[in-house]
Amino acid sequence: MTATDKSHPIHLVVNPRSGYGGHKYMLNAFRQELSRAGLAVNEHTTRAPGDATDYARAISNTASAVIVWGGDGTAHEVAEGLAGSDVPLLVCPAGTENLLAKELRMPSEPRQLAEVLQDWQVAECDVGLVNGRSFLLIIGVGFDGEVVRRLSAARTGHISHLSYFWPVWRTFWEHRFPRLRVTADDEELFHDRGLVFVGNISRYAVGLRICRDAVFDDGLLDLVIFSCHEHSALVLHAAWTLLRRHPLKGNVIYKRVRGVRIESDRTEPSQVDGDVGPGTPLDISVAPRRIKLFIPTRTPWWQNWSWIGELSI
Ligand SMILES: [Mg+2]
Repeated sequence: MTATDKSHPIHLVVNPRSGYGGHKYMLNAFRQELSRAGLAVNEHTTRAPGDATDYARAISNTASAVIVWGGDGTAHEVAEGLAGSDVPLLVCPAGTENLLAKELRMPSEPRQLAEVLQDWQVAECDVGLVNGRSFLLIIGVGFDGEVVRRLSAARTGHISHLSYFWPVWRTFWEHRFPRLRVTADDEELFHDRGLVFVGNISRYAVGLRICRDAVFDDGLLDLVIFSCHEHSALVLHAAWTLLRRHPLKGNVIYKRVRGVRIESDRTEPSQVDGDVGPGTPLDISVAPRRIKLFIPTRTPWWQNWSWIGELSI
């Protein structure tokens, strides 16, 4: 079966716990748009973590496309189930951050989302691998690994941007920057205290573009190493990253790589796509063009004005 075999059913995977109340209204509007376009979909509502992967894997031989209505976590679960198949995935921005949907410049308006499906333009996206587990977005080791570990330990339900405040604040004051050894493509690049990120896409939380130049289909991962011994240096790194000028700084290494190994004297936590990841040592690689994703063909008028497009997060 090929991706253009549209005689097979389209599936819609809905995570009812993603996003805010307004997204439920948007979901109804999206269903109406699909129906108006004459597109019949089989809908599946996820019930537990891992459910979306199992469902996607089960239909990967018989679907023509899968739509995911949820956040980055749900998109990743579905992608995991579809990886290596010809079935393309439509990622709707229905979560809190929607980093992948933003990277693909997916519209949020239901009619435009249905148009992306109708236009059927598909790109092949790389998938990152860390210690055998896949990721689509970005890995962090050091400071933000610790933030996500603390957030996860305190988590009681839906995560909003505000949920990060106390974990970031406490980690900022209590974190001791670990000594990390980073080897990329068999070359030792760094052996000092700091933070390391490895990204498949450019976007990070709250509009930061840590892996600023990352391209999701170039078969490479963007490695960013911030040398950092103290809190004040972290503030400066954050400021330069906000301005997207950090790759130009002397105490930052920015490199495109195929593989990375990150080691430390003691086990350091990592975050993988915003969830708690494995502790160091980490072996990171890339599986080129492993997942097919729908991309919009019609550019919104405001993105033609590059200065506005630059401001969009
Ligand atoms: Mg890349």
